[in-house]
Amino acid sequence: MVSRVIPVENFDLVIFGGTGDLARRKILPGLFRRFCSGQMPAEARIVGAARSDLTDAEFRKDIKAALEEFLPNKGHTAKDVRGFLDRLHYVKIDATGTQGWSVLKKLVRKDKDTIQAFYFSVAPTLFGPLAERLHTNKIAGPNARIVVEKPFGRDLESAKALNATLRDHFEESQIYRIDHYLGKETVQNLMAVRFGNMLFEPLWNAQYVDHVQITVAETVGVGGRGAYYDKSGAMRDMVQNHLMQLLCLIAMEPPAHFDPDSVRDEKLKVIRALDPPEREDIVRGQYKSDVQGDSYLEEVENRSSTTESFVAMKLAISNWRWAGVPFYLRTGKRLKARASEISIVFKETPHSIFDKDSGRHRNILSIRLQPNEGITLGVTIKEPGPGGMRLVDVPLDMTFADALGPEADDVPDAYERLIMDVIRGNQTLFMRGDEVEAAWAWTDPIIKDWTSRGDKPKAYDVETTGPEDAAVLMHRAGRRWLDIKA
Ligand code: NAP
Repeated sequence: MVSRVIPVENFDLVIFGGTGDLARRKILPGLFRRFCSGQMPAEARIVGAARSDLTDAEFRKDIKAALEEFLPNKGHTAKDVRGFLDRLHYVKIDATGTQGWSVLKKLVRKDKDTIQAFYFSVAPTLFGPLAERLHTNKIAGPNARIVVEKPFGRDLESAKALNATLRDHFEESQIYRIDHYLGKETVQNLMAVRFGNMLFEPLWNAQYVDHVQITVAETVGVGGRGAYYDKSGAMRDMVQNHLMQLLCLIAMEPPAHFDPDSVRDEKLKVIRALDPPEREDIVRGQYKSDVQGDSYLEEVENRSSTTESFVAMKLAISNWRWAGVPFYLRTGKRLKARASEISIVFKETPHSIFDKDSGRHRNILSIRLQPNEGITLGVTIKEPGPGGMRLVDVPLDMTFADALGPEADDVPDAYERLIMDVIRGNQTLFMRGDEVEAAWAWTDPIIKDWTSRGDKPKAYDVETTGPEDAAVLMHRAGRRWLDIKA
């Protein structure tokens, strides 16, 4: 089976922060891969914009080095690289000043056949100044799109203020708030599996699902991001956005159509139906030091920090579908493996016809986001051989790499897919302003409670699954976390 690459419309994409880490590591390599696949129209242009004093040639040289660093040996040719670099331009610009804006205005095309997209790959404090200058300098036309990166605010108040600033200059239909977890192939496959088959949806409720686990585990610590991370923590950095978005996709009702507002309306209803968690249903942690590295407190250079590098929580959704089904969320740094996985754990059969020795079995649908994206369904079968009726659980691979051919292995990275969606004007996989605000409205009281009580995170050993209390959170209900495996 050959995957179809449908070229997008002609575009000018301006990347503010074109010299930064995200642009060099993800955005430009992603665009290069789309170029190599033939998805980029012949006249499409990419403009890097930042304060550094660079010529087009110097910018191209830097991006060539970035491609070598972040896409080594990926089967492209020197001609591919040259062809892509020819599309690149650079404008020296200051988001908070006047320099560079007239040059950018001349460069960006305004004909009706060229899509204008402006990627704000800069610190969030610059989102407002950029939106304002694009508007006052009359660079952005009525069909222009802006892409904003996380973090989208640090609480409800700041998210509302940011939404208001962006909406002063752009319509909601022009604003693309990126959550790269939604761009992952498997996340979209989850929706295909759930809504494209008769098999799963009838079971997708409190009658058949025992509980849901969502784990996003990292092996790295805060590294060079210590100062930023210490003001944020796992709750703001991961739960409020990525884990919340994954939970919404699992828990939402089937939308009427797979279109942006139908999907986002359903996600919003889930966030609004989330109960505030009880204190005892939340575990916070901070990693200790080991021979290989410093503790959290040492890395952030703040001995009295009470910011969490780990959080686990049990959540309840107050609606008919999910009444009584706990959703367990867990995310942390310096854990035993890097793995992001959602598991739908179904109930046991109501009665076992097999003898006691056959053990307890239950189906688990696992959606793995990284590494090795894929979906597996654990099914119970008879152990082969003449040993009697012994049961074993085996994974049924639902990624079907064999059936789909080699293209199934070469899935686009989340960023490349999402940027192409921006050009296509498809907001389905981007967060709407009210969704982000609802997520903060749910998160804020939890963080405020920690702050007002002076709550201290539990220290945990690195290369483990986090603090012991997280395991206790599960044991209390007679459950256990699935292992974190790379
Ligand atoms: P970064 O490496 O610090 O890059 C920042 C970029 O902004 C640079 O190109 C910088 O270039 C430019 N810049 C700074 N001040 C400017 C100004 N006044 N006018 C114009 N350009 C200016 O940051 P990053 O890691 O790429 O992150 C960019 C954004 O993405 C941030 O909002 C971050 O939170 C978000 N994000 C990043 C990652 C990641 O993996 N890196 C992941 C998720 C989200 P000059 O100094 O030359 O101006």
